[in-house]
Amino acid sequence: MTVKVTKFGGSSVASATQIEKVGRIIKHDPQRKFIIVSAPGKRNKQDVKITDMLIALGDAYLSNVTYEDNLESILQRFKEIVLELQLPNTILMDIEQSIRDVLAKEIPAVQKMDAIKALGEDSSAKIVSAYLQQLDINATYLNPQDAGLIVSDEPGNAQILPESFPKIHNLRAKDGIQVIPGFFGFTKEGQLATFSRGGSDITGSIIAAGLKADLYENFTDVDSVYTVNPTIVDHPKEITTLTYKEMRELSYAGFSVFHDEALIPAFREEIPVCIKNTNNPEAPGTMIVADKEPDEKCVVGIASDSGFCSLYVSKYLMNREIGFGRKLLQILEDEGISFEHAPSGIDDMSVIIREKKLPFEKEAIILRRIKEELAVDTVTMHRNLAMIMVVGEGLVRTIGVAQKATTAIRDADVNIEMINQGSSEVSMMFGISADDLDRAIQSLYTAYFGDK
Ligand code: ASP
Repeated sequence: MTVKVTKFGGSSVASATQIEKVGRIIKHDPQRKFIIVSAPGKRNKQDVKITDMLIALGDAYLSNVTYEDNLESILQRFKEIVLELQLPNTILMDIEQSIRDVLAKEIPAVQKMDAIKALGEDSSAKIVSAYLQQLDINATYLNPQDAGLIVSDEPGNAQILPESFPKIHNLRAKDGIQVIPGFFGFTKEGQLATFSRGGSDITGSIIAAGLKADLYENFTDVDSVYTVNPTIVDHPKEITTLTYKEMRELSYAGFSVFHDEALIPAFREEIPVCIKNTNNPEAPGTMIVADKEPDEKCVVGIASDSGFCSLYVSKYLMNREIGFGRKLLQILEDEGISFEHAPSGIDDMSVIIREKKLPFEKEAIILRRIKEELAVDTVTMHRNLAMIMVVGEGLVRTIGVAQKATTAIRDADVNIEMINQGSSEVSMMFGISADDLDRAIQSLYTAYFGDK
């Protein structure tokens, strides 16, 4: 039996029209038996996601201010969908009751916030399963608790526990189509906990891994993963196949089509992932697989992200001082700061940190501690950096890739502040000023993908 797990993102369930497309996609392929849904997302650029509306409702409730307006606008969005799909009004009543029950429940604030956030996906799954039934499809809403999703007790950042997978595997015996809300699971104690934001992708991947599915389809609103961010380069080329490692590097630096945490379960079970478009399901999409045939174009994509800063430390004879790197990173650990990369030289070390993880107060403490405790010659913090990742399996074995990149960056008249090649098998990283990012990316795109 071929098993496909099919996940629909927020834009795919944002309105009745979108849910009708979802219905057609499911009907089209009887192997699509496990459906994961997000909460209704944005219908247009100005729109607000249901999850954000629920967070606003939770904030209002928890800070004891009136929340009826928030609740009303959430119900209004669901009402439009339910009415347009001509579903029974009881669904709407059920959704409202579920929201009010969660608000009234006596649980700690963090748990309550998580339970409120999860209502978007939960209601979405109820609506989609009812709609499929209306299409005469044997579909059932399946709660993540009954599906076997057991997670750690970390509200807003839950991690799947290994005992979930055999439980999920038993779902293969189920009849008909199961519609499972994404984004949350339950702790061993039965407490609801959500994954990080965008986490319905994670649910889909976990279900696919547990079922040992043949394919995990992830429906979004783009035809494929592109070689470069389409907001920087117009109509960039599409990627047809890429490996998990390549996807990991791309999604790290700005490719938001697929949640980076979602790759892990699929990767461990080697389940191929296909990114597809709900608005154009005939397009082949992008396949993410364990291995692919080597091709002469070793670069698959160019990712980039701004919002980085670099902590630069220099000390004469650093290379001879045993434990220097550890002590430096220990200071960051003490201050609760994670780091992204740490390129080093004989007397210098840079530590790249996401700016949003480093408030200015922390920066002052860290600089002072490094100066005092490590007796360094120089310690500075450089903000407003952007990172570019040139990604591709085989890149490290190919002659001339780095030269092509540096030439392209030079042609764009951009100064490279940092290069890191070799610490990753599949990427080459360049640090530049964030103000120069678009220019550098456009030039790199032409160098690697432009038609010559
Ligand atoms: N609705 C959740 C969010 O907006 C999860 C998801 O859509 O994947 O973060």
